Amino acid sequence: MKIVQDERFREQREHFRLRFNCEYCALFDEQRETCAHGYPTTEHREARYADPDASIVFCKHFELT
Ligand code: SF4
Repeated sequence: MKIVQDERFREQREHFRLRFNCEYCALFDEQRETCAHGYPTTEHREARYADPDASIVFCKHFELT
């Protein structure tokens, strides 16, 4: 499910240091920039959220490192 990103999300993401991107996931291979489970990572990468119009996409398999 894709969620529209708004100012409140951006503020709280920063305030609570929300970590939900591949870069913070135990399944992410930093050298290959791939997911150990073979999922596409494009929508879950942190850099994507530099775009304030990017929709929010949470990965169901995210495992915090
Ligand atoms: S499980 Fe999801 S969040 Fe974790 S590396 Fe794979 S695609 Fe990224």
